[in-house]
Amino acid sequence: MTSSNQALFEKSQQLIPGGVNSPVRAFRSVGGTPIFFKKGLGSKLWDVDGKEYIDYINSWGPMIVGHAHPDVIGAVQAVAANSLSFGAPTGLELEMAALINKLVPSMEQVRLVSSGTEATMSAIRVARGFTGRNKLVKFEGCYHGHSDALLVKAGSGLLTFGEPSSAGVPAEVAAHTLTLEYNNTQQLKELFAKAGDEIACVIIEPVVGNMNLIVPHMEFLQTLRELCTQHGTVLIFDEVMTGFRVHLGGAQALYGIKPDMTTLGKVIGGGLPVGAFGGRKDIMQCLAPLGAVYQAGTLSGNPVAVTAGLETLKLIQVPEFHAKLAAKTKKLVDGLVAAAKEAGVVFSAQSVGGMFGLYFSEQCPTSFAEIMQSNKDNFNLFFHSMLESGIYLGPSAFEAGFVSAAHTDADIALTLAAAKKAFAAVA
Ligand code: PLP
Repeated sequence: MTSSNQALFEKSQQLIPGGVNSPVRAFRSVGGTPIFFKKGLGSKLWDVDGKEYIDYINSWGPMIVGHAHPDVIGAVQAVAANSLSFGAPTGLELEMAALINKLVPSMEQVRLVSSGTEATMSAIRVARGFTGRNKLVKFEGCYHGHSDALLVKAGSGLLTFGEPSSAGVPAEVAAHTLTLEYNNTQQLKELFAKAGDEIACVIIEPVVGNMNLIVPHMEFLQTLRELCTQHGTVLIFDEVMTGFRVHLGGAQALYGIKPDMTTLGKVIGGGLPVGAFGGRKDIMQCLAPLGAVYQAGTLSGNPVAVTAGLETLKLIQVPEFHAKLAAKTKKLVDGLVAAAKEAGVVFSAQSVGGMFGLYFSEQCPTSFAEIMQSNKDNFNLFFHSMLESGIYLGPSAFEAGFVSAAHTDADIALTLAAAKKAFAAVA
């Protein structure tokens, strides 16, 4: 029997390249048919065939309060009734800028955009305009969206396909992008000793969520901060994924390191398209209409999208929100490690706030090279067994997982019961 998922996927492939609007959704890495969803509520999703899932993707991060939260939906409906877009300033944008500045004080000035890709692309343009330098440094396996200069040794879907960069990016554009190993302090020092004064900016995921989950060494982040300061290089924390998720103030608050610029996305849109970039006022003043760095957007600061973000940010400012989210995520991860051990499967896992990483390797990896050594076949077996049991994990061994405030102890218990079966299938 052809399921509705299968029928939709077959038809979609005729009209949409690969049948999807973002590559990882195609299940290429794990094989099988992607799931087409029709409804989400709290921690749960329902597909077009009516099957229920516990969701650990959460739209790749934004749904931190769960799906269809009544406060978010209600506020969006109310604002939408007054027009979907003005292409002119609104008080909502000011409210959002003030809230971002309160929660992430290093963002002295902020500009809103419509995606994480736009945020990072614009931030590096500002950093280049501010410094008058061209060189950009990123780290292997970090993903910062799909703008040309940043698609060099990127993670996420690009790792899944084993392609370190993309066709269609001119060599001349990529030539200004230097890539170093994550957590390799020595390499960082060597590059800055040689070319520090030519580097406009360093962009980094302060906790990486795009080559599975990789946690930074404190010494690595601290050295990075010091070197950027010494050489007048703009340090950009790409907190599109970690912002408001690993801590209310992002990874910069968690680790106590202040970047010069920050990029945000995902949670600040609460499920609608919002991104932001911001940082030191002297740097942000380079932007048009004040300065010579151009950046614009028809739907930037869209009232409906900003409202979804504002409501979401209100909901996560309640006392203990992040402590509870982190504890719940850790409970899941600890349970998975115990279940794997019982089944005799080589496995490790860790979490930071509401993000987690699952690895079919002895130890949690700390770099791109190490994550590539993990057992992808075992991940794929595990993934499909979990999916069968109604547990929706990221369809790739190179993606992080996400827990929301809506996940209950019962959800975690069900997940661990499914994992027991899945690890038995792997063993
Ligand atoms: N930066 C990071 C760290 C991300 O994880 C992502 C997306 O996953 C992006 C940037 C790009 O954001 P978007 O997909 O909204 O363009």
